[in-house]
Parts: sequence; C-alpha cells; structure tokens
Amino acid sequence: MPLEVVCGSCDQVLYKGSDFKSPREVLKMLGGRCNKCGEALSTSEFSIDITSTRP
Ligand SMILES: [Zn+2]
Repeated sequence: MPLEVVCGSCDQVLYKGSDFKSPREVLKMLGGRCNKCGEALSTSEFSIDITSTRP
C-alpha cells in the first residue's frame, strides 16, 4: 500500500514509499523531528497524518 507521511505543522512530505511502515518506524527513520520545520513529532500525531496516495 503506498504511504505518504506529511508533517502536521508545515505540510512537508516526510516519507513517501510503497512499503507500509508503522508510525513508530517512520518516526525512528526521521529522528523524531520534521526535517523542514524541526517540529517534534509524536507517534499519535503521526498516525493521523498517514494517508494512502491515490492510484
Ligand atoms: Zn514540519
């Protein structure tokens, strides 16, 4: 399932890929922060920011 993770603060696309990763995995990959605005990300915020991309 294609996956897109977007920062809730600045709408930066943080992760885009065809492999589904858990919010915890993506958070770990990103070092816990948005790479654009530096906003600290929590897994609870993350889960609502994960949306499937349209075909
Ligand atoms: Zn951000």
